[in-house]
Amino acid sequence: MNPRLLEERPADPPIGYKIAHPMLSRDLTRAGFLGVALGGREPYSVLDDAHCAYGHRHRVPSRRCDCGFHALNSRASALGLTCTAEHRTAVLLEVAVLGVYLRYELGFRYARQRVRTMTVGCCPCLGRTTLLADAGWGRPGWHALEAACGGCVRGRMALTLSDFARIAGQGLSVLRAGQIARTPAGC
Ligand SMILES: [Zn+2]
Ligand SMILES: [Zn+2]
Repeated sequence: MNPRLLEERPADPPIGYKIAHPMLSRDLTRAGFLGVALGGREPYSVLDDAHCAYGHRHRVPSRRCDCGFHALNSRASALGLTCTAEHRTAVLLEVAVLGVYLRYELGFRYARQRVRTMTVGCCPCLGRTTLLADAGWGRPGWHALEAACGGCVRGRMALTLSDFARIAGQGLSVLRAGQIARTPAGC
């Protein structure tokens, strides 16, 4: 570690915010999250360790690589990411930043994280979200999920928010909010 840099040793882990897509394994036994940027190839669990996204065998985070978990300092900045078309159906995660971390002006890059809460926005129709439904895409062995109201599920594979929390395990809380990239009213 560079001795000129300030080392932090907080009593409690820093809290970060990020967006991700909720994912459910095809056999319905595992639930996790898929990141939206670098590292968004493999879903991660509620409590998980980062691995180098380029397959290098160094410790994460490394100053010579940009891999690792990423999170922002502010909830508002993370929510801002859901304004782009491709991230409209992403959920907001509040995470505990664990293990070694590097702090940046806007957030953190780090080795290990625990997702504490997942906040789900409105159904795309702006109706009240009651379920997480198959979003129509995924990764090998995994379905991506998106918020849905009862009327918009239309026969898709779906599960309740509490079922998602139970399958994900590790104390995850799942909340519903009407404020992710949508009008705050109505859901
Ligand atoms: Zn790396
Ligand atoms: Zn709907």
